[in-house]
Amino acid sequence: MMDFSAVTQASERLAGIAHRTPVLTSRTADALTGAQLFFKCENFQRSGSFKFRGAYYALAQLSPAQRRAGVVSYSSGNHAQALSLAGQLQGVAVTVVMPHDAPAIKVAATRGYGAHIVGYDRFQESREAIAQRLVAERGLTLIPPYDHPDIIAGQGTSAAELFAAVGPLDVVLVCLGGGGLLAGSALAAAALAPNCRVVGVEPEAGNDGQQSLQRGEIVRIAVPQTLADGAMTPYLGEHNFAIIRQRVDSIVTVSDAALIAALRFFIERLKIVVEPTGCLAAAAAFTGAYPCAGQRVGVLISGGNIDPAQLAVLLAD
Ligand SMILES: *Cc1c(COP(=O)(O)O)cnc(C)c1O
Repeated sequence: MMDFSAVTQASERLAGIAHRTPVLTSRTADALTGAQLFFKCENFQRSGSFKFRGAYYALAQLSPAQRRAGVVSYSSGNHAQALSLAGQLQGVAVTVVMPHDAPAIKVAATRGYGAHIVGYDRFQESREAIAQRLVAERGLTLIPPYDHPDIIAGQGTSAAELFAAVGPLDVVLVCLGGGGLLAGSALAAAALAPNCRVVGVEPEAGNDGQQSLQRGEIVRIAVPQTLADGAMTPYLGEHNFAIIRQRVDSIVTVSDAALIAALRFFIERLKIVVEPTGCLAAAAAFTGAYPCAGQRVGVLISGGNIDPAQLAVLLAD
């Protein structure tokens, strides 16, 4: 079982490399919720999301032989960009398996960080199978987006910074997909803020995490259709769930409409761009999905990568 020492090691390795992202506050948000909110802004992290933390740390933990051979992953989203940047910084070749119909902006961003892209047909082939073949044939190491101890340790460094920056909190709200950020945050809270509740927030369309926590086992659902493209995961990771079931207090859900309202709030009031998935935790505070009046509340804003054209459409409605 992992503990906080893994997060501490990751913090030491990431010092001076990952940004210590700012913590913002807003009187308007506080008035709206009756709480004191502390927004930890991973939308300002390198590569635009917290995923840089785990990706960089996971690469740094590889053996020299593994680093020479290179790594592979199959995310089309923020993990791919984060891993590509981390590979560029550490001189490790990164291959990303991406569907032929992936958004051009994501392919361009990933390629821009120097990754080699292997395309596939998402209706005919499994990305896992393609990645496994590259592992077998080329000796690449698979770096998954969340189900990996080093990824979890790296992601936990964000909440660790939050506790160090603002002191005791009553609760920390965390965006939830496969559970890397939530599991890492829970490890940090257990050591640094043992009285702080840890709450995951996932899209209403896909509450597999909520169901899993209630049933005490990983529940698999169909791929959820939601604006929160970073949380379209149909089930939690094994390493992640082992930590989440022990240390997470509850998991709540929010609608896509609530994500858009939060995204708009961040632009209008805090003047920051947050992608829909990055709005999950804040939306739980704003809608009361997690009632937080009278409390000191940490809110992890997980990322800010959104196509400007999509942003314009969301704001125009
Ligand atoms: C990946 C991602 C998430 C979900 O993180 P997990 O570690 O998979 O739970 C949330 N927000 C953003 C912006 C992401 O990129």
